[in-house]
Amino acid sequence: MITKFFGRVFSGRMFKPAKPRIIAVSEHGITRDRIGTCALRTCETLQQAGFAAFVVGGAVRDLILGRDPKDFDVATDATPEEVRGLFRRSRVIGRRFKIVHVLCGRDMVEVSTFRGPAETEKAAGKGKLGAKDTSVEDEHGRLLRDNVWGDQSQDATRRDFTINALFYDPAKEQVWDYHGGVADLKHRRLRMIGDPAQRYREDPVRMLRAVRFAAACNLEIDTATRKPIKALAELLTNVPPSRLFDEMLKLLLSGHAVECVKRLRKEGLHHGVLPLLDVILEQPLGERFVMLALRNTDARILADKPISPAFLFAALSWHEVLAAWKKVQARNVPPVPALYEAMDQVLDVQTEQLAIPRRYTSDMKELWVMQPRFEQRAGQRPFRLLEHPRFRAAYDFLLLRCESGETDTALGEWWTRFQDADADARTDMLVADSGPAKKRRKRRRRKSAASPAPSAD
Ligand code: ATP
Ligand code: MG
Repeated sequence: MITKFFGRVFSGRMFKPAKPRIIAVSEHGITRDRIGTCALRTCETLQQAGFAAFVVGGAVRDLILGRDPKDFDVATDATPEEVRGLFRRSRVIGRRFKIVHVLCGRDMVEVSTFRGPAETEKAAGKGKLGAKDTSVEDEHGRLLRDNVWGDQSQDATRRDFTINALFYDPAKEQVWDYHGGVADLKHRRLRMIGDPAQRYREDPVRMLRAVRFAAACNLEIDTATRKPIKALAELLTNVPPSRLFDEMLKLLLSGHAVECVKRLRKEGLHHGVLPLLDVILEQPLGERFVMLALRNTDARILADKPISPAFLFAALSWHEVLAAWKKVQARNVPPVPALYEAMDQVLDVQTEQLAIPRRYTSDMKELWVMQPRFEQRAGQRPFRLLEHPRFRAAYDFLLLRCESGETDTALGEWWTRFQDADADARTDMLVADSGPAKKRRKRRRRKSAASPAPSAD
């Protein structure tokens, strides 16, 4: 009776207790030396204490794709408290999903307890561990809390896509595949586990994840998985902005941002998710600039170079700032105070809509405010700009502006040469100051009286 109930709830089909296909190393080829030391040690400790422990999710998927995983997650039948008891350097975190962070030196592994069917309190006692906590959902079916423990096959069913529901046992070097994820990877297919529409309702962020995995792993989204997305896209507006932001960040920093953005548009997901892109992509210059910034970010990530999210967000909203700046100046506000007003306008909207965390906004502002300073190539100003601790990032930003056609390429070239030149050559490069000195001083005094904002020089 209970099994029938789960079957209906989960996949709309009759529930069959899932049996994994256990794949030997001779077939999948993943030897345990491909697993990070911290994850290996964590699995070992758990298994020695009598618990099941597997590397799970993205790491197994990436290994099968022949890629290096960026991190390792572990799944176990030990409860978070039991895991906590086994590792001195560990802590329980999360409310929506309680998990344990296990630390080994500077490495960290996320250990999650097998989860059971989230739908109902009736699940109590069903899994090996029984329900220790219940799930809670909002009026659209979105799960707000989800700490119902279960067994491994239930845990596999709770995962989003078949390719993310693969378990690797490092001791036996076996892959446990409950939903045909290995075959899907082979056929380059992204398939949701269970009824896609229901799974998107439970967690609308899965729509963004579908696009990200399809783009990053070069997969086709299976028809049934794809079909409900357009109609359900608006459910993303119910997701807390901070979660949306986290997922957006993963997407933009996936190393495949350009492809992700293209696919977001194709699936009808860009409107309302990234209000930033909505506006920008409609302006020809903006589109070029955004795509260049994303392409640049992708290249840096694939080359293992560090990336600054603030730089990326500053780039994504630069054309918004330019448009607002123009409007404020049209009210006869001098350029520098006008720029400050424009930045605040843009950031007010963005922090509200996209929830760009405040920790990024001061870096973004700094990058923007430095842009007009590149125009000033007389006297001491270029030397002062060169010494600015954020010069390099601001200069990279300037180059993007030049490349996109927003500003003259000669300006970027001048700064490239100026940086490399010796002291004499730099002095020779300075552009003659225009206008009588007295007048300039006066104008400057007037400007600073009009606004408390720092001068642009
Ligand atoms: P990445 O390479 O981005 O880390 P990942 O697959 O490891 O990809 P995570 O967000 O780290 O993604 O999640 C780890 C695993 O947890 C996933 O592989 C998936 O099995 C499961 N998971 C994560 N988010 C969800 C979700 N929203 N719904 C269902 N399962 C999820
Ligand atoms: Mg992961």
